[in-house]
Amino acid sequence: MSMTPAILQVENLRTWLSGSEGIVHAVDGVSFSVARGETFALLGESGCGKSMTALSIARLLPDAGRISAGTVRLDGQDLLQLPEAAMRDVRGSRIGMIFQEPGTSLNPVMTVGAQIGEVLLQHTALRGSAADARVLELLDAVGLPDPKSRILEYPFQLSGGMKQRVMIAIALACEPRLLIADEPTTALDVTIQAQVLDLLRNLQKKMGMSILLITHDLGVVSEMAHHVAVMYAGEIVETARHDEFFRNPAHPYSRKLFASLPDRQTRDRSLAVIRGRVPSLASEFRGCRFADRCDFAWDLCKNTSPDWSAVESGHGVRCHLFSEKKEVPDAATTAFASGAGLSAACGPMHPETGMPLLAVDDLKVYFPIRKGIFKHVVGHVKAVDGVSLSLRAGRTLALVGESGSGKTTVGKGIVQLLPLAGGSVSLGGVDLATLSGSDLRGRRRDFQIIFQDPYSSLNPRMRVLDIIEEGMIALGVGGDRRARATRVEEIMVQVGLGAEMKYRYPHEFSGGQRQRIAIARALAVEPKLIVCDEPTSALDVSVQAQILNLLRDLQSRLCIAYLFITHNMSVVEYLADEVAVMYLGKIVEQGSADEVLHNPQHAYTKALLSAVPRVEKEAPIASI
Ligand code: SF4
Repeated sequence: MSMTPAILQVENLRTWLSGSEGIVHAVDGVSFSVARGETFALLGESGCGKSMTALSIARLLPDAGRISAGTVRLDGQDLLQLPEAAMRDVRGSRIGMIFQEPGTSLNPVMTVGAQIGEVLLQHTALRGSAADARVLELLDAVGLPDPKSRILEYPFQLSGGMKQRVMIAIALACEPRLLIADEPTTALDVTIQAQVLDLLRNLQKKMGMSILLITHDLGVVSEMAHHVAVMYAGEIVETARHDEFFRNPAHPYSRKLFASLPDRQTRDRSLAVIRGRVPSLASEFRGCRFADRCDFAWDLCKNTSPDWSAVESGHGVRCHLFSEKKEVPDAATTAFASGAGLSAACGPMHPETGMPLLAVDDLKVYFPIRKGIFKHVVGHVKAVDGVSLSLRAGRTLALVGESGSGKTTVGKGIVQLLPLAGGSVSLGGVDLATLSGSDLRGRRRDFQIIFQDPYSSLNPRMRVLDIIEEGMIALGVGGDRRARATRVEEIMVQVGLGAEMKYRYPHEFSGGQRQRIAIARALAVEPKLIVCDEPTSALDVSVQAQILNLLRDLQSRLCIAYLFITHNMSVVEYLADEVAVMYLGKIVEQGSADEVLHNPQHAYTKALLSAVPRVEKEAPIASI
């Protein structure tokens, strides 16, 4: 903590919003303090609660929001206890605010001069020519070119950068003690951004004001902030002074933010990905809120929410890895120390056991044979008889075999679409076969299945938007309606469909496009595993290539594991890391793709491989 006395002290702030999905805990016990004259940055992705924190401090919440607990002290005075009239006076005089979109914050039918003059009229004793002189002085201070003539102009006559300068002039008109700047440069070009940041820094020095800077941009934080707090899912997860934070980011989320920044060193390789998304703040959290996306999570993380731990004096983090009271598995410590997860490669889900994402053990699926008028069961067809497989996060296991070998039944058994006669299917350490109906439904977002014929698996009477959204609604992911609609558009673009196609029906698409819709539907719930059951066998080869490329690209970006069921050995060659060969309900050979494809041991594998028609690209075309 800084030794300078704090101008703003926020203690245990909780802000709730009521939305269509219930109560959203947008700010959930946030505490921090901003020292005099310093810039304090709240950093995080959108949806993590940083803007709501700012709006709560200024008591400018939308109608659906309310502050349910906490204190916000400005110079020792609790703003949350003030009557609204007094608060109005605080806003504008002691707290100035600037937002991302200056265009929407300025009044379009008032001149620039009149808008600044209005603030002076409300909050100061300046009138007449004294007020006019102050307006000019302010416009000059924020570097607006030719301020005398600009006074008479309307916002639409100004560029984005100039509008932001006018906003800053309004915010600073009464020399506030604290400026809240919410993504002040996000809407601006980089060159204008640099000028605006420079301006804020100079004004801060001159006026000695404090700045609470809300941003998602590490670059802006690095330029501006003296102190940094990283917000994630409604909480602060790390706080440190600027130098310490940039030298030694501690929380796995902060480290990922650094690793996913594009720069010169990472130009030739893929950037690290933070798989999944910020969880819905309407959910109840038991463990660490980052656990689903963390490369180091172990059992404790899933069940117990981490306390605040000190990394060094003034540098705190909310993560079990740094707790002195808790046992940290050696594997997690080693993985963290080695910088695991900071490159594009996906790490194992459970570092303490090295356990794969999916472990199938002795899986059995039997179909009853019924006879007679009462349909007595007289025997069983052992469609799958003791299959064991394992698959790591972000990898592809191809399950190959001819039709009738039982491979599709294995896929359906794994995703629990068929009852098991025996064995276990463990996904992320949880045996799916033992889960009851509602627990299983809760887990369904972790695994999805894509079928061969997308047309029959898409409801012809539903629009694409509804098809993709359906699973999100059923599994309670993706936030409220608006958030879901945005997510659907994002996913459509991700799978190579234009967002504008969302109102169309399945019959308006080609086969390849329909498979993209099916992939989008599966992706919408952010699964860790997708079972792909012959997803390209109904498609033309050129379309197949597009879909395979798409699947590979999505895997490297989102760390999804694929169990790829196919009879097509060339697809296996292209996509698989590992291969398991099935014959009559059993696995007859399995190993790395290289071993199985180039040095097959089992006679059946050899037969399968020799049956693949080879296209000799170099061979001369026979003359007729
Ligand atoms: Fe990851 Fe566990 Fe730390 Fe959360 S508490 S960030 S899951 S290691």
